[in-house]
Amino acid sequence: MNIQENVAAIKQNIAHAISRRTAHVDKSPITLLAVTKNQSVAAMCEALAAGVTAIGENRVQEAQKKFAAITDAEWHLIGHLQTNKVKAAVKMFSLIHSVDSERLAVEISREASKLNKVQDVLLQVNVAEDSAKFGVARQHTLTMARLINEMPNVRLCGLMTIAPYYDVAEEVRPVFRETYRLFQQVQQLELAGAAVTRLSMGMSNDYQIAVEEGANIVRVGTGIFGERIYV
Ligand SMILES: *Cc1c(COP(=O)(O)O)cnc(C)c1O
Repeated sequence: MNIQENVAAIKQNIAHAISRRTAHVDKSPITLLAVTKNQSVAAMCEALAAGVTAIGENRVQEAQKKFAAITDAEWHLIGHLQTNKVKAAVKMFSLIHSVDSERLAVEISREASKLNKVQDVLLQVNVAEDSAKFGVARQHTLTMARLINEMPNVRLCGLMTIAPYYDVAEEVRPVFRETYRLFQQVQQLELAGAAVTRLSMGMSNDYQIAVEEGANIVRVGTGIFGERIYV
């Protein structure tokens, strides 16, 4: 299997997953985000040639090294963002998935204002209450959504979650279902200036389940590029 075949197969799987969705799930189009941590520019170009339009990077520094070489894609930040990297992040990323504190949102707004930019962000929620993961606790979701929405140069676009890894992928479904419920609650706040339309959840092993449960951004690395090689 090569990158092109992998992308085609994943798109087909996404289409099938959409057809299995239950009626309550919102029908927005789905973004296949190619997660390119540890991938070369050449591999990234292959994915773009295969029809991927959006790239997800975990680390600001790695993205900076590759950013100039790839101009025809949307860049998303999916990894934890330290406040001292915000300035660089705001320059590159059209969507930051990993906003997990008020302090970070304040800093993003401040740096975005210097660029006359309104930075689109997602609130990362630690729905599975996994102590090894970032994200706000479930019960703080609505409070944090309101706080982020008050910042002038940040636009809240939805939620992101990183689910735990299960050997049996089906076990993850309740996490995605709960995240979708929180997403709907944030939508029901009807925050002025926000555009709560994006729900980022699902990775290589479970993106089909995530789509069935309402994801409209799936973050797929291994499924497109094969196993990552860490050097
Ligand atoms: C690495 C990573 C992914 C992609 O993981 P795969 O299992 O390789 O698809 C998705 N989301 C985040 C936040 C990641 O760090």
